[in-house]
Amino acid sequence: MPSWRQALSRTRDRLAGSFSKVFQRDGEVDDVSLEELEETLLQADVPARLVGDLIESIENEKPAPGLTRRERLRRRLLATLGSPEPVRWEDGTPPFTVLIVGVNGSGKTTTAAKLAHLAGRSGHRPILGAADTFRAAGSEQLRIWAERVGCDAVTGASGADAAAVAYDSLDAALARGRDVLIVDTAGRMHTKGPLMQELQKVHRALGKRAEGMPQEVWIVLDATIGQNALIQARVFNEVVPLTGVIIAKLDGSSKAGFLFGVARELKVPILFAGLGEQADDLVPFDAAAFVDALLGFEDSVERAEA
Ligand code: GDP
Repeated sequence: MPSWRQALSRTRDRLAGSFSKVFQRDGEVDDVSLEELEETLLQADVPARLVGDLIESIENEKPAPGLTRRERLRRRLLATLGSPEPVRWEDGTPPFTVLIVGVNGSGKTTTAAKLAHLAGRSGHRPILGAADTFRAAGSEQLRIWAERVGCDAVTGASGADAAAVAYDSLDAALARGRDVLIVDTAGRMHTKGPLMQELQKVHRALGKRAEGMPQEVWIVLDATIGQNALIQARVFNEVVPLTGVIIAKLDGSSKAGFLFGVARELKVPILFAGLGEQADDLVPFDAAAFVDALLGFEDSVERAEA
């Protein structure tokens, strides 16, 4: 499994240098470098409105004794991300059912498999549902992953009704006594109308098979695309209210600052981060390690690895 340190090296390499220039040794910012600070936050794709608010608060706040401005900025960024409760696969009536949404290519299928692997490793018996029937290879890809991580997958033929596959996967989970169900879906942003209808249909189909399902709707966002991911999250949140965010490909990105926008605007917790392409490369999102890499602090990255 890659470490947070390795995974966030792009973020740190690209930004921490700029931040250490901005922050003087004692962590204070002079008036001139506030501009630089603003630019550096924008470079990391932190949304402009939030950057404006942060700069304003740093400018106007009375210095707190014993707290450097860097530390104050760190606390503000951490507060924006919040500290969600860890996911408890055993919550609610089983199976703990998660609908995975997001645009194609964001890392949905890989993430669905990683989640099944994670649940399996913590003693649960997961099953995967391949309701991405749009892409010919979608179901096949999930089936191969299911084999790799050692769990069952319910798939449909290419072009099959996605809602029917979702229904069948929940049916199978109930019949086989599985306690976690992860349902992968198709995501075609360019045709918002059909996407909306199909996703809502898939969501409804799960609720038809068992009341209250799915318990969770998690969106997979590609860390490498920056602010566009925030726009995607908004669109999907209108279609099916999101309950969590998974940030994929954080290992390849220095533009994940949009996460602050997602957390602030949509008030949806960031639950996991994808740090690579293997089954093990999904870890609970560590807000402190992320903020510290961004600001060039070393400590909590080391803490997260310990
Ligand atoms: P989908 O179309 O949304 O289902 O996306 P896929 O799961 O097929 O993933 C698209 C590509 O992103 C694949 O090549 C994956 O291996 C890659 N990928 C997914 N998650 C990660 C990650 O956390 N880190 C890296 N580096 N690559 C990832």
